[in-house]
Amino acid sequence: MRRSRVSSVVFVLSLCVAGAAALTRLTPVAAQAARFDVLVRGGTVVDGTGAPRRRADVGIRAGRIAEVGTLADAMAATVIDATGHIVAPGFIDVHTHADELADHPFAEHFALMGVTTVIAGNCGSSPVDVGAAFGKITTTKASINFATFVGHNSVREAVMGTARRAPTADELAKMEALVAKAMADGAVGFSTGLQYVPGTYAATDEIVALAKVAAKSRGVYASHMRNEGTELEAAVAETIAIGRQAGLAVQVSHLKVDAPSRWGASATALAMIDEARASGMTVLADQYLYDAASSNLGIRFPSWALEGGQPAINTRLDDPKTWARIKEEMRKLIRERGLENYSFARIANYPADTTLNGLTIPEVAQKLKGSKDLDAQFETMRTMLRAGGASMVYQFMAEDDISRILRHPMVAIASDSGLNTLGRGVPHPRGYGNAVRALGRYVRELKVITLEDAVRKMTSLPAAQFGFADRGTIAPGKAADIVVFDEATVGDRATYDKPHQYPAGLTTVLVNGVPVVTKGAHTQARPGQIVKAAR
Ligand SMILES: [Zn+2]
Repeated sequence: MRRSRVSSVVFVLSLCVAGAAALTRLTPVAAQAARFDVLVRGGTVVDGTGAPRRRADVGIRAGRIAEVGTLADAMAATVIDATGHIVAPGFIDVHTHADELADHPFAEHFALMGVTTVIAGNCGSSPVDVGAAFGKITTTKASINFATFVGHNSVREAVMGTARRAPTADELAKMEALVAKAMADGAVGFSTGLQYVPGTYAATDEIVALAKVAAKSRGVYASHMRNEGTELEAAVAETIAIGRQAGLAVQVSHLKVDAPSRWGASATALAMIDEARASGMTVLADQYLYDAASSNLGIRFPSWALEGGQPAINTRLDDPKTWARIKEEMRKLIRERGLENYSFARIANYPADTTLNGLTIPEVAQKLKGSKDLDAQFETMRTMLRAGGASMVYQFMAEDDISRILRHPMVAIASDSGLNTLGRGVPHPRGYGNAVRALGRYVRELKVITLEDAVRKMTSLPAAQFGFADRGTIAPGKAADIVVFDEATVGDRATYDKPHQYPAGLTTVLVNGVPVVTKGAHTQARPGQIVKAAR
């Protein structure tokens, strides 16, 4: 055994030497003189720190940025002409649901909008075994870098199912052990999704106990809060209190005001974040740049009605008395938000009948129940939830809140997107456009923030929060995650009606020094790495 192994090593070595000799013969000058593997030449560097842009070339060796400066005459194996274009660090998308990256390793829609690193496991939903998830991605290889949280809902469900009660001491210990294992495997922190089953059944002290485990590994606490509109301030207060009691940095997920009756409340939420920061805490937020949210149908129902899985849900929906109670609570919930009906709710994907995808609830009510009135809308939602539910797009945010949140320096820009398959369903357009929408709509058209600041919010700001020490800026020694775009044309093209459209104006994306996008097209290269915090 031993002998054959040695001889195969010798064989491989001799092949390498022969290959190198052949290369030298074919391109003697380049092979001998190349200082860089890749040279991005002629561009204007926006380095991710927020500093003003400057003219510079970027030389890359062995997947890292080797030099930044005047390098126009340097030899390189691959030269990328960035004349007239912006050269920025690859975007770090801190809030995604790209958990299934191993099944969609090219992640085309992320790569084509300049996202080179995704953080998955948000809103409480992640693989429970983070080490196994990393192993799967490492084996498959992906086009983009990957990091993940460990999610509270997933951990709670593994231990307690969807029980609507506090954990026993034994159950809490089991959950703590799962979080500890995930952190040891390299999770960036602990996430919650407190509007979803079963996380919504957890009291604050349970979350503090689990966040304390993540704090031991210096993880971040990220939260899809209990409420994002009618009780926004209470939810922000709880999120900050958890961070303070558990002793770790906080990331408020997809900060928004999702109730017309509370539009403007983002000012208070941001002031609460400022106050916590002034007291010495690390509190950041992230946002996506659209006036509609994406979620499931169940979130529009009272959470007690969703306990115990589909059979238990259907038993409640089928019982006239219970259904009447559910309907009254739903009526109250939309009224409190300042909404008259469900015209704000559009189906993204309804597996039971995909011909209804893209329609609003009143439109579906007309089709299924012959009426658009509110009661027909409730009945429609009852029918849909009974048939397994749907993924939905909910249009209920205001542009003023989006812009106010975006102007805050400690808010990162993140898509909240899962992995899309081109042409499938009617997903939220953010998965195709969020990062470039920042550069096109919010920088160039609306002038809400500067280009340098938008880039900072997608690069060095998240890199610092999550301890990605070697990413997020263009500087020697950093991983060569780089995006090249035309600031005059860059922008999103995906819409609510036609989401499956890749962006405009973004030409080149390098991940760890390897081109994943060239001339606006995916190269099918898979140089992505697992990214862990350096703490
Ligand atoms: Zn969420």
